[in-house]
Amino acid sequence: MTDTNEQGLSTRSVHAGETRDPQGAIHTPLYTHSTFAFDSTADLLDVVEGRKPGNLYTRYGLNPTIRSVEAKLADLEGGEQALGFSSGMAAEAATFLAHTRTGEHIVCIGDVYGGTFELLGDNLPQLGITTTFLRADEVDRLPDVLTASTRIVFFETPSNPTLDLFDIAAITTHAHAAGALTVVDNTFATPVNQNPLHHGADLVIHSATKYLGGHSDLTAGALIGPAELLAPVAMWRKNLGQMIAAETASLLARSVRSLPVRVRAQNDTAAAVAAFLATHPRVSRVNYPGLATGDAKQIYDTQMRGGGGMLSAVLDATADETAAVVDRLRLFAIAPSLGGVESLITQPITTTHHGLAPDERAKRGIADSMIRLSVGLEDADDLIQDLTHALADN
Ligand SMILES: *Cc1c(COP(=O)(O)O)cnc(C)c1O
Repeated sequence: MTDTNEQGLSTRSVHAGETRDPQGAIHTPLYTHSTFAFDSTADLLDVVEGRKPGNLYTRYGLNPTIRSVEAKLADLEGGEQALGFSSGMAAEAATFLAHTRTGEHIVCIGDVYGGTFELLGDNLPQLGITTTFLRADEVDRLPDVLTASTRIVFFETPSNPTLDLFDIAAITTHAHAAGALTVVDNTFATPVNQNPLHHGADLVIHSATKYLGGHSDLTAGALIGPAELLAPVAMWRKNLGQMIAAETASLLARSVRSLPVRVRAQNDTAAAVAAFLATHPRVSRVNYPGLATGDAKQIYDTQMRGGGGMLSAVLDATADETAAVVDRLRLFAIAPSLGGVESLITQPITTTHHGLAPDERAKRGIADSMIRLSVGLEDADDLIQDLTHALADN
């Protein structure tokens, strides 16, 4: 896939959405202000009544720093508009609340972030909004579980932690036939490796805390799509007070300017680490989109431009032996989260999938001896040496 916009992704990452202020600051400045003043009542009414774009009140998102990073993210995902949020979960919650009503239904495909699982499985049912969860190996059952009241089909691709790939166009065809929207969490792939909107998805969500922020120093979220679908979400965002902070928006824009360089380097390094693990005698399975075979390879070739920085591997080891391997690593830090410049490792049974019953984990291919790696910007040789040392029997 090539970008449909005229300029390349790196150029757009640097320049899209930027405004030059009267002082000549090279990027959009940080406006921390909560409110903005007008020359006249008529000018104020033009903005309040939507006749003119303008700055008004930061919780509404009418702040130049926030609008600038939103314009950049919309451009990179190939969407009409973007909304910035205080976190990825804030973006998800507002999207579900805006596009479902009591008595309506959501379908969630494959493994999803733990917070998403709780929101759909525990919080929304309190409002009478129910979710049917399909495991990755049950995706063919999608047409059977869509009902007249299904409003949203939600999934991550690649998903966490098994890196399953889902066919965005095929799923969207089924969702649309049932009158539902497709919402894709594109956190793992980033707009560098995949643009779900180009494959028919209606809305794209990001935990900007991960690759978009890229330095493990901010918490934010984003939703991208057509203005018509974002308007009701923006109202929930405003009244739930979920706005991205202006300071965070500025830091996020700083990060996104280097997103393609970072993610392409992470693609290369993760591919090298995946290739190393795939031949290691203590590794029984490697999950990495760049190593996909069969149907998954077909999906990869159609909708992805790179394998990303995330991979998981199943060791030929017990849970305790796996923990010992993790504990021997020196460069990979033991931490949840992902997408930063530093490499991280987790054992999903101790973190992201700790709460899931053992038989459910088994059905989902999440072995006790699974490790999940977020590959950073270190040299591939050093990361491979660290893994070699940690995997050595002793
Ligand atoms: C982290 C994460 C989220 C939640 O994002 P926050 O910014 O922590 O709220 C959602 N989806 C995926 C895939 C994530 O990795």
